[in-house]
Amino acid sequence: MKTVLITGGSTGIGAGIVKEFSKAGYSVIFTYKNHKNEAELLAKEYGARAFFCDITKMEDINTLKEKANCVDIVINNAGISDIKMCSLINEDDWDNIVNTNLKGAFFISKAFIQGMINKSFGRIIFIGSMWGISGASCEVHYSAAKAGLTGLTKSLAKELGPSGITVNLIAPGIIDTEMNKNIDPSVLNELVSSCPVSRLGKPEDIANLALFLASDNSSFITGTVIPVDGGYTI
Ligand code: NDP
Repeated sequence: MKTVLITGGSTGIGAGIVKEFSKAGYSVIFTYKNHKNEAELLAKEYGARAFFCDITKMEDINTLKEKANCVDIVINNAGISDIKMCSLINEDDWDNIVNTNLKGAFFISKAFIQGMINKSFGRIIFIGSMWGISGASCEVHYSAAKAGLTGLTKSLAKELGPSGITVNLIAPGIIDTEMNKNIDPSVLNELVSSCPVSRLGKPEDIANLALFLASDNSSFITGTVIPVDGGYTI
């Protein structure tokens, strides 16, 4: 049985990935930061293991590495967004967004790469964003961090391919989660009407592609950036 580690599995897309991988028979480990109760309930219901980890803190990553030991698949899902004009973004805002979405994703991956190399098998999946492809007004720091994940994906894919490890990025469109709860409904409606399939995405839409990328059937796919956005970025 293969073991998958999902960061930010307590809510939203991450929780969707936890559910689908558990149903597919993987041994599932996931992390949470603030939503401890939700994480514990989800872990109990799906027979998964939940660990606290703030991915911006190296000591938390080191503790997680000891607890999780060897994992076959890492899904870097944990992330935060922040909507404000570029003139209002201060250094703390920048560091917070970049340290969570980009730096944390790298150091989580790094913690488990040697174990994958030892087994000559591994899958690293980053959850980026369509804004990392097209750029979003009033989300400069978020878009830059998510675009940075593309460089990370392609570099790691080249470096780790010879060791049997593939590295890919899923770029979601607008997915119906807590992250979008503060977006004005009229703005959400406009986004939906600009989307060819005319709906918000669901966490399962992302989980289904993650399942394929984690499987043996995807072994010739690496270094890719795959939008799951209902055609929004066409
Ligand atoms: P949620 O806010 O529902 O979930 C975010 C998850 O990340 C939570 O589990 C949260 O843990 C975790 N997290 C946040 N900060 C940290 C941290 N410092 N350390 C560890 N975990 C952390 O959002 P979504 O499910 O929507 O987002 C999941 C991913 O998908 C993110 O990377 C996001 O950027 C990306 N995405 C989302 C889109 C959308 O429309 N929803 C669109 C494009 C990309 P906890 O709650 O326990 O604190």
